[in-house]
Amino acid sequence: MPEGPEVETIRLDIEPLLVEQKIKSTWISPVLYPATQKRNQFKTLEGKTISALGRHGKLLWINTSEEHYLLVRLGMTGRLHVQHRDDSLEKHTHVRIQLNSGNELRYIDSRRFGSVTLVQTEAEKLFEIQKMGPDPFSWDIKQKKEIIKRIQKSERSIKTILLDQSVLAGVGNIYASEALFVAKIAPEKKGTELSAQKLLSLLDAVQDVMKLALHHRGTSFMSYVDGWGKKGDNLSRLWVFARTEQPCKICGTAIEQKVQANRSTFYCPKCQKDRR
Ligand SMILES: [Zn+2]
Repeated sequence: MPEGPEVETIRLDIEPLLVEQKIKSTWISPVLYPATQKRNQFKTLEGKTISALGRHGKLLWINTSEEHYLLVRLGMTGRLHVQHRDDSLEKHTHVRIQLNSGNELRYIDSRRFGSVTLVQTEAEKLFEIQKMGPDPFSWDIKQKKEIIKRIQKSERSIKTILLDQSVLAGVGNIYASEALFVAKIAPEKKGTELSAQKLLSLLDAVQDVMKLALHHRGTSFMSYVDGWGKKGDNLSRLWVFARTEQPCKICGTAIEQKVQANRSTFYCPKCQKDRR
């Protein structure tokens, strides 16, 4: 499942092929939007010029010249590619945005937990962004302090809090496990049990593991591929995620796995022993 670093990799890949391109035509699959009226709304994009791409957390957006915005959530299996319009269509292609360069932006999603939506005012776009907490790629110290205060009021486990997009945006199952390992925090610790200093080191770890993942073009654990359809290089660099029973890269103890809030957590029982 693409998290912040994977979505950012895709954004950086496709942005140069999209910006300043005029939208010639659009096609939306009836599978994605069964209502014709809903599909026809996308026709309002035609003739508009793409001005910029942006991202916050796992949300990616495409701005056009006239206050029309495409909001893209990749969900579990969503992919965005810019391909030539004559390139063969992959199965599960749900959106095609033809550009005057001869390329088209394609959204492909086999399981369809993702979405592509059109909003026609900046306010609607900002509303979606403001639902989310700060993004580790851009947060400032004031925002970090606010996040820490919020975490310290929570009785939930720290692993579960890290996955809450309204607290901080873009962290999913991979980087939550990784950051807790780097900060040496047991994943079942409650927010109320952690000191501000410990949480600051955790937020730094979140940023570090995500920046490293971006540097290595994302983690291809399941279906994630970058904007060019290639796998990222980060999987082999992970400390604990998906490494159950393999030796910890620091102490050699077997990595363990457990379920928290219906999600798998990976951790080293020795490195992440009870320390506050
Ligand atoms: Zn260890």
